[in-house]
Amino acid sequence: MEHEPAFTYPQLLRQMEIIDGKLVASHTLDSVKAEIIALGGLPPCVAFVRVGEDPASVFYVGSKQKAASRVGIESRLFVFPESITEAQLLHEVAQLNADPTVHGILVQSPLPKTISEQRIFDAIHPDKDVDGLNSLNQGLLCQEDERAFIPCTPLGVLELLAYYKVPTAGAHAVVVGRSVLVGKPAALLLMQKKSTANATVTLCHSRTTDLGYHTRQADILIAAIGRANTIRADMVKPGAVVIDVGINRLPDPKETKGYRIVGDVAFDEVSPICSRITPVPGGVGLMTVAMLMKNTLKAWKRSRGI
Ligand code: NDP
Repeated sequence: MEHEPAFTYPQLLRQMEIIDGKLVASHTLDSVKAEIIALGGLPPCVAFVRVGEDPASVFYVGSKQKAASRVGIESRLFVFPESITEAQLLHEVAQLNADPTVHGILVQSPLPKTISEQRIFDAIHPDKDVDGLNSLNQGLLCQEDERAFIPCTPLGVLELLAYYKVPTAGAHAVVVGRSVLVGKPAALLLMQKKSTANATVTLCHSRTTDLGYHTRQADILIAAIGRANTIRADMVKPGAVVIDVGINRLPDPKETKGYRIVGDVAFDEVSPICSRITPVPGGVGLMTVAMLMKNTLKAWKRSRGI
């Protein structure tokens, strides 16, 4: 039986440190690029499918394409009008599945309400599912099977914890949010029976009674809620590690865009009491893009039998 050293909470009581997502994402991208060069041959290729012109989707796909070009991954963008039907989109996905020069496929959500997102995600070949949203890959994650493609955001969260050597074994991790995209896979990853995980996990959501009671127990607190400043100082245990996944727009007339981006954690009041914290922006968001490149590398290697 594997014995992990017991989690020692006082280890976390040190001066507060900002978890630098830009730095860790940059290291990840450099290592992906180096591996692509070392393996040689035709470069990996990821196909992005976008429906409509939702500004956030345009921005997210654009930043993913930029990262791909930085690491030497070819990207192809397929844009369809909002009027596309589910059957037509399924057909487009089938064509990308059949194209041997495409190694990864990402369908950017949200899709129009007339289309079932999960049906589209399930149509992506599991070996090309670099966003990890296909039901088979979600099942493989549950089984702790190394073949799983894992959703990029929770994968990025775990990478940040590993990079900053945050002890997870025996730690109490509290995840707020139970989406299939972030909260649920984050909880599954943290509870895995491996040295980089082995946390005791509590998963909270909108029906949790006394959220603060649970979050105050957290050695590692992960907020994936989608509501600005939900996690306040009195909800955080002194010395905890706080990972803020949230991306929320708050109206701000002082900004030229008329808004500013904030997380789910009230950064100014929580940062003085925790041991480490991710900023928004500059934290998890950049890791999401970097992990997509890592997943595309994995898909490319699999297509080559590596
Ligand atoms: P969802 O809306 O799918 O899920 C939000 C979760 O938070 C739900 O489980 C919901 O509970 C829970 N919740 C909502 N309100 C409360 C509350 N008051 N107290 C406790 N729990 C609550 O969002 P996502 O998981 O997709 O995203 C979460 C946040 O992360 C968003 O801000 C999103 O923009 C951001 N995000 C950031 C990414 C990045 O790269 N940094 C990538 C993806 C998302 P219930 O299930 O009961 O409804």
